[in-house]
Amino acid sequence: MVKKTVKDLDLKDKKVLVRADFNVPMKNGQITNDNRIQAALPTLEYILEQGGKVIVFSHLGRVKTEEDKEGKSLRPVAERLGELLGKDVTFVPETRGEELEKAIDSLSSGNVLMFENTRFEDIDGKKESKNDPELGKYWAGLGDVFVNDAFGTAHRAHASNVGIASNIESAVGFLVEKEIKFIGGAVDEPQRPFVAILGGAKVSDKIGVIENLLSKADKVLIGGGMTYTFYKAQGKAIGNSLVEEDKIDLARELLSKAGDKLILPVDSVAATEFSNDAPSEVVGDEIPEGKMGLDIGPETIDLFRKELEGAKTVVWNGPMGVFEMENFAKGTAAVCEILAKLEEATTIIGGGDSATAAQQLGFEEDFSHISTGGGASLEYLEGKELPGLAVIPDK
Ligand code: ADP
Ligand code: MG
Repeated sequence: MVKKTVKDLDLKDKKVLVRADFNVPMKNGQITNDNRIQAALPTLEYILEQGGKVIVFSHLGRVKTEEDKEGKSLRPVAERLGELLGKDVTFVPETRGEELEKAIDSLSSGNVLMFENTRFEDIDGKKESKNDPELGKYWAGLGDVFVNDAFGTAHRAHASNVGIASNIESAVGFLVEKEIKFIGGAVDEPQRPFVAILGGAKVSDKIGVIENLLSKADKVLIGGGMTYTFYKAQGKAIGNSLVEEDKIDLARELLSKAGDKLILPVDSVAATEFSNDAPSEVVGDEIPEGKMGLDIGPETIDLFRKELEGAKTVVWNGPMGVFEMENFAKGTAAVCEILAKLEEATTIIGGGDSATAAQQLGFEEDFSHISTGGGASLEYLEGKELPGLAVIPDK
C-alpha cells in the first residue's frame, strides 16, 4: 500500500488542514511529555517550508460532558508547539464558528493556527467520534487540502480523519507514512526469516494478532501472561498464574494449527505473590502450586535468542513479564537486548506497554521502529484495514 503523502500535494499558499496526534499526557494543566508534539514537527515544518498555511488540530483525552472539558483544552499544546517551531501559533478556542473562520481567512502563508480539541464536539451527540457527516464536511470546508498524520486514531472513523478526508484532497503525513512502511511492510511483505514475539497479559487481547502473525511469520515466540493459558491447554500445571479459562479451547486450537511454528517458554520466574518483593524462583514448564509465573526464565531467553538468530524481520508486541516490577523485567530487557544486537533485522515494536518497556529499559534507539499507536498498531498487526488510512488514496 503506497499512500499519497504530503509530498504529493501542492501546498503553496494553500490552507492545509493537519490532523495531528497531540493527545499528550497532562498534569495540572502542564504537559508532562511532549514527544507527540515533537513527532509532528517534520510534517508541519515541511508544509511551512513549502509556503502552506497550517491549520492543525487534534483530540485530547475523552470528552463526554461539559465538565470533562476542564483541563482538556489544546491551548497549552499550541503554546508548546509555538516554542518548538520557533514561531507564534494562533490558538482559536473553538471547534467551529465565525471566530475560527475569520482567523483562518486572515492566516498568511508560512504560519500556523491551531483550533480546539476535536472531541469538544462529542458533548452534543458524539459528532466527532461518530463521524457526523455534517461536521466532517464543515471542517473540510475550512481548508484546501488535508493531511492525516495521526496514526493513533487511524483505527477509528472519526469526523477529524475519515470525515474530512471524504470531502477534500487528502494525503498522509510523514509519521503515518513511517508506520505504513514498517508495520504494513512487515505484515504484507516481510524480509524472511520473519519472527514475531507476542506477550503481554491476555490471550483475549491478542487473538487477532496471534492468528494473523501465525499465518505470516516463520516463527511465533510466546511470552508474558498469555503463556499460562497455552500451558493449561497442554494440560500443564500453572499454579496461580494468569489464565483465561474461556480461551483454553482456542489456545489448544492455535497450538494444533501452528505446529512447531509456535514456541512457548520452557521456564518461568515464579513468585508467591503479584509483588516485586515476593520471594521468587526459576521453575520449568510447570508452575508449582501456590506460585505464579511473572516472567520468562533464563532457558527461555536462550531459546528465544537462538530462534531470533538470523532473523530479517522481527515484530514484537507485548512484554515478556511484569516489567513494571524490577524483579520481573529481566525477560523483557533480555529480548530488547537480543533485538538491539540483530544488525541485519528490521525490528518493530507495536503495542503501548511494549513501547513503554523498551523506553524505560533504555532501548528506545535500538529499534528500527516503535509504533506510536497502541490500539491502531494492534489492529494493523491483526491485518485489519484501518479506516483512517483506507480513506486516503494510493499514490
Ligand atoms: P501491549 O500494550 O504492549 O500490547 P499488553 O497490554 O498486552 O501489552 O500487556 C502488558 C501487560 O502485561 C503489562 O502490564 C505486564 O505487567 C503484563 N504481564 C506480562 N507478563 C505477565 C504475567 N506473566 N502475568 C501477569 N501480567 C503480565
Ligand atoms: Mg497495553
